[in-house]
Formats: sequence, structure tokens, C-alpha cells
Amino acid sequence: MKIVVVGGVAGGASFAARARRLDENAEIIVFERGPHISFSNCALPFYLSGMVASENALIMMTPERFYHQFRITARTEHEVLEICRAEKRIRVKDLKTGEELWESYDTLMLSPGAAPLLPASIPGIHSENVFTVRNVVDIVRLKSYLSRDGIEKVAVVGGGFIGVEVAENLRLIGKQVTLLEAAPQILAPFDYDMVQTLHKELLDNGVSLIVGDGIASVNAASVTLRSGREIPADAVVMALGVRPETRLAEEAGLELGETGGILVDHNYLTSDKHIYAVGDAVELYHRLKRKKARLALAGPAQRQARAAADHLYGIPHNNKGVIGSSCVRVFGMNAAATGLNEREAKEEGIPYGYAYVLTNDRVGILPGASVLCLKLLFEYPTGRLLGAQAIGRGEADKRINTIAAMITMGATLEDLKELELCYAPLYSTAKDAVNQAALVGLNLLYGRYRQEPVSEVRNLVESGAYIVDVREAREYEAGHLRNAVNIPLSQLRSRAGEIPKDRPVYLHCRSSQRSYFATVALQGMGFENIINISGSFLGICLFEYYNDIVQNREKIVTAYNFR
Ligand code: FAD
Repeated sequence: MKIVVVGGVAGGASFAARARRLDENAEIIVFERGPHISFSNCALPFYLSGMVASENALIMMTPERFYHQFRITARTEHEVLEICRAEKRIRVKDLKTGEELWESYDTLMLSPGAAPLLPASIPGIHSENVFTVRNVVDIVRLKSYLSRDGIEKVAVVGGGFIGVEVAENLRLIGKQVTLLEAAPQILAPFDYDMVQTLHKELLDNGVSLIVGDGIASVNAASVTLRSGREIPADAVVMALGVRPETRLAEEAGLELGETGGILVDHNYLTSDKHIYAVGDAVELYHRLKRKKARLALAGPAQRQARAAADHLYGIPHNNKGVIGSSCVRVFGMNAAATGLNEREAKEEGIPYGYAYVLTNDRVGILPGASVLCLKLLFEYPTGRLLGAQAIGRGEADKRINTIAAMITMGATLEDLKELELCYAPLYSTAKDAVNQAALVGLNLLYGRYRQEPVSEVRNLVESGAYIVDVREAREYEAGHLRNAVNIPLSQLRSRAGEIPKDRPVYLHCRSSQRSYFATVALQGMGFENIINISGSFLGICLFEYYNDIVQNREKIVTAYNFR
């Protein structure tokens, strides 16, 4: 068996190594266009700040070690130019000498990844001060440019994971960073209400964040936005997203799928039964959307590579599709998301509800406890879990990983409510945030109360809605909604007569629990039009802050309180 692999990083190297473990006798050759195989793409941004200390630390495996440990030949700086399927061979160019050679294969694996988008329509996009971040060469080049005298102002274009990580790492070394995003928000896996916390975190840490305005042109010392606004920039990092590298496959007559990725079956075989493909270049099955999707993430690429190698050697693999789980750090905040968000649920026409809880991530009296914002989406009326997002200074990824596992198992709110998780005060709360979110979701699903999202509170305040703040007086005095009436939960029963019955009444507290208690108490007293503001005062402050600052608009709170 002669196995040839195109692309020597996440998918390609994983496939080659797994094939070797399954077959000691196969001849395995990897062709990689760049000078390195098996480097950590995901750690590239951290080299900018020095969190990854050296260029070498980014490289997990050299061709020499690959050969000695696995007897896999990795030819770096070799670009595969053509696949001749009829003769089962590929044409390869040695980029150092310019020589071309043909290499035959029994099985071919394509893991060419995805290339950063660089729209030719943007004037100046190919200037020497414009960079992308895909590999070690890119990041070394960028870092070296930034170390030149006078390179202080950097525009990072694109608020996806790579753009955000690059912006943070540049800020950490004192650069003046502007992060530009054409959409109204950064980080598409998060909903607009959730992501405001991250917008705030970027502002608080000195990143100038501009959303809702795309780049129009790159100039010598600035970028011009579509609005006409000019942003000073000595260097520009383009992180607009990626496009799958499908040229080789397409020219060889392999089928592409509806999303533009290489079409593969459930075993990652392309339309040619001698050619597999995995990773960023392929089209996958999204198990929640029940349709094809692309997903540029390292974990899925490695899993696909292993599954493809297993299939080649007759080991069955149950392809469950993908749900899309990701996480990112934004300065002091950890953010993670899995499955569908509200926008996607709407696009897919899936009826959904959501629970939004702000709760301590561990027992509040212990050092290090902090608030976790957790949003959990579920299907109406089945209660099937659809997705979740968590943001906080604590372990957001732990909660999202738990929910991702439940979604993969097809769980419902009832299952998540009953999920037995480990607990000690330093790690979580007896009823973990994910259990709490499930309980809130069940209350909503079963119609035990109604909720209003934080995104509607400005309208409520401006239209003079009757809002009751059920926090204690000292909390209220430290900052409250402009027109909220303060009736603390501790006085609610004696002062219920002050609350009107002939109009909707909106309740909120600091985070989530007390307004729920107040809501059900008032409902028990015969009030029929009580609505709980999900997220409460903290959620409202987090939601409003960024837009208040950048739009310089009138606040709806007397003072923010982020504690
Ligand atoms: P790659 O790992 O990109 O490998 C493809 C290789 O194929 C490339 O090195 C390319 O040079 C080579 N190649 C292409 N065409 C040819 C050819 N014709 N001949 C020879 N060689 C060729 N994912 C996460 O899950 N979490 C993260 O935190 C995360 N962070 C990231 C940060 C950055 C800066 C980047 C760039 C990516 C990040 N990713 C992250 C995404 C993740 O790295 C990719 O999803 C994953 O590497 C995809 O694997 P792949 O094998 O498809 O492509």
C-alpha cells in the first residue's frame, strides 16, 4: 500500500500517523507546501505576545522526527500541482529547486486546509504592510514587521476567533489596536446579547473596536472604512475568514458540495474511491441543522483524519456529523459556544426557546468566584438541547463542553436538569450553572413564567413600562434602571398592593434568582401579567455598556454595576 498525503498539518499529519499505526508496511509520503509540518496553527497568535516563547515551540514535529518515529516521509516545500486520477499519480513541484516530479499512489489523502480571504476588490490589499495569519512563516513575518521602529498602530480586520486573538496578543505587547468588523458584532457563534460582554472586555482593555463598518481600502498609513472613516494603521492584519482550498480537487474533477467544500461521504471518501479528503477543505454534515456545512476547527479535522484512516483499513466509524464547538479567551473573559445560536435556529426554522442565567461559577464566598453568563437554547416543544454559549472569568468551556456532550447524545432539558456533576465549592455550585439553565429552561417550556430579553429593556424604559427592581435598597442605590421602582424581595409580600394589576409588570434583580422568586410569588398572589427580565441588572449593564460608550447615547441606568 502506498499512501500519499497532501498537506502536512492538522488533518494530513494525523491521517499519516494513524495509517502508520494501522499498517507497519505501508509506504507513506506527505507533501507540504510550507517549510513546516505539524505546527500548532491554533497557537500562532500567542507567539505575537510572547506567550509562546519561540518560533520553534510552535512546531510540534519535524520531518526528521516524523521519519524516525513513524517512518513517514514528509517532503516540505513541495507543492502538489495536479492529480492524475486515471493513472493514480500526482504532479509535485519542489519549491526550492523548481523541479517537478510525478508520484504514484494507491490511496491519496487531501488535507489542504483553507486559505485566508483577501478580497482583490479592496484597493491596497497586497501592500507590504498587510498580513494574514495561517502558518509559522506568516506569524514570524508579522512579528518581525511589528518590531520595527514606529510600527505602533495595527488594524485587525475581521472579528472572528483569529482576529480577536491577534488583537488581544498585539494589545498585550502595547500596540494600539483597532479591531474592525463589518457585522454588528464580533464572533458569529455568539448571539448579539451575549457578545456585548466581550465587546466591553475589548474596550476595557484598550482595543478600539468598531463594528458594523467594513474595510474599503488599505492606504500607506491607514485603512479607510466603507463609511469613509479613516483609521490610522502602520500594519494591517486581515482575518476575514477562510476559503477551502479546493483547486486541486476541482481540477481533478472531484465533486464539490453545495457549500463549496470538497464533497465527501460519511467515511471521508471523495467522489473518487481512491481519494479521501478531510479538514477545512471539506463539506461536513451538521447534525443539528441536518444539512451540509463547513467547519474550520482543529478537533474535527483530526477526528476526521483518524476516521478516514480507520476506514481505509476496514475499521468501522460512526459518523455523527458536527455541531460546532469552540472557545476563545478575550483578555479576562473565557467564552465558549456549541451547537446553534438564536440566529441559526431562526435560519433553520427550528422553534426554540432559551434560558439565560447569570450565576456564580463557584460558591460565591470563596476566592475566585465570578459570574458566568450562560445561555441555553432548546427546541419547542420537545425540550431537545440545541446549543449554548457561556462567557465569564471562570470556566466557561467546562459548561459548554458538558452541554456539547449532552447535545451529541441527543439530550433534552430534563436530562440536563438531572445530570449529576461533581461539586465542591472551589469548582462549582451544588446545582451547577448548566443544571440551573436547564431548570430555567423547563420553567419557560412549561409556561411557569414569561421572560423579556435584556435587549428589550431600553424599549421598556423609554416607553415608561412598569419595572420593579427587587434588589435591596443599597443595591438599588448603587445603580438602577432610570424608572424602576424598588420593592426588595424581602418587602414584596407586604408591599404587593403598590404593584398595578392592570398593566404588564417587569421584574429584575441583580443576576437571575431573586426576580424569579418574586415572579412566582406575585403570580401566586394573583398577578397575571408578570414578566421576568432575563439576565437582570447585571445582564442589562453588560448588554448596554458597549453601545452606550461608542454611540455616546443616553444611559438607561443611573450607574452601571458589573459586580
Ligand atoms: P491545515 O492544518 O491548515 O493544513 C493544511 C496544509 O496543507 C497547509 O499547511 C498547506 O500549506 C498545505 N497545502 C495546501 N495545499 C497544498 C498543496 N497543493 N500541496 C502541498 N501542501 C498543500 N481551530 C480550533 O479548533 N481551535 C483554535 O483555537 C484554532 N485557532 C486557530 C488559529 C489560527 C491562527 C488558525 C490559522 C487556525 C486556527 N484553528 C483553530 C483552525 C485549525 O487550525 C484548522 O481547522 C485545522 O488546522 C485544519 O486542518 P487541515 O488539515 O484541514 O488544514
